[in-house]
Amino acid sequence: MTHDTSAFGFETRAIHAGQEPDPRTGAVIVPIYQTSTYAQDGVGGTREGDYEYSRTANPTRTALEQQLAALEGARHGLAFASGMAATDAVLRATLRPGDHLVLGNDAYGGTFRLIDKVLSQWGVEYTVADLADVEAVRAAARPGTKLIWCETPSNPLLGIADIPALAGVAHGVHARLVVDNTFATPYLQTPLALGADIVVHSTTKYLGGHSDVVGGAVLTNEDDLREQLFFLRNAAGAVPGAFDAWLTLRGAKTLAVRMERHCDNAERVAEALAAHPKVAQVYYPGMAGHAGHEVAAKQMRRFGGMVSFRHVDGEQAALDVASRTSLFILAESLGGIESLIEHPGRMTHASTAGSMLQVPADLLRLSVGIEDGRDLVEDLRRALG
Ligand SMILES: *Cc1c(COP(=O)(O)O)cnc(C)c1O
Repeated sequence: MTHDTSAFGFETRAIHAGQEPDPRTGAVIVPIYQTSTYAQDGVGGTREGDYEYSRTANPTRTALEQQLAALEGARHGLAFASGMAATDAVLRATLRPGDHLVLGNDAYGGTFRLIDKVLSQWGVEYTVADLADVEAVRAAARPGTKLIWCETPSNPLLGIADIPALAGVAHGVHARLVVDNTFATPYLQTPLALGADIVVHSTTKYLGGHSDVVGGAVLTNEDDLREQLFFLRNAAGAVPGAFDAWLTLRGAKTLAVRMERHCDNAERVAEALAAHPKVAQVYYPGMAGHAGHEVAAKQMRRFGGMVSFRHVDGEQAALDVASRTSLFILAESLGGIESLIEHPGRMTHASTAGSMLQVPADLLRLSVGIEDGRDLVEDLRRALG
């Protein structure tokens, strides 16, 4: 086991938690243990904590799990093959046929699809609510509600949910609060410390941070839940390979410095958009006029790198902007060092069409990267015309 890094600051934990020099070679960087299996001392002689088979456990993955747990201030971390695999594991570990969950009205499209199209076939029921409205969430909860599933800031409208208040609602009905902390990252917000029971990540985004690997993670302080998730992951097999775990571990070491620059640039871009005549509305929780600004200021260190906005001239004009930027690359995903632009209605959130989660057609979403902020503002000005 690794030494305790909990007394250290965030940046120190990112670089040292789970990452002692390799005991055999002294390698300073955790090796990529590219192996499926491990020699055993004798038949049945595997000691507790030893490695047997890489679906069950792998040392590179263990290092990543200890690092992520240290960053979220969690007792346990489990890495998965993708954010959706992590989401699926949490849903299946905590819900049974007939159980109910409350889901935000601008949840990640893939999360909604998994619940609406897959889990519903197994008798899981859900209610969609505006998570910024605590009373609406309380009204949506009922006997049999086992989870409140929350994203804050949410995707793509950057809605803000009050984590301590939602934890109170969840615990009042003996349900758990799950926070998908992908947008904020543990650098900006630590939901477990605010009362949440489970944190989920798509590490594909800011934690990996370089748009070169897909992955997910679950963090919790509950020992029993950790055992259930570990069992389920081993039974179902949605594990990241050693190289993917290593890339994510490497990316997350620089999370703090990247997030500071993402936030600087996003603030700059949001201000420039708000002043532009072709922009009808800007969604950025760092702006004083944003409906969730005060709650965000209470529970977040800064306001993140995601900015959404609506074009005054409707859908086609928004699509034209997305095709005219040159630095902002037209692509799905987010959280990498490079800036991306996308049209949620036709791309990431197409699966929500016709549902309560449908997004405005004139909406564009930006993942503001860590390039020179002046270049990013100029690129958007040129594309807006
Ligand atoms: C991308 C994303 C997911 C899904 O993660 P994958 O790694 O793509 O499977 C879940 N939640 C949020 C908020 C995301 O942005």
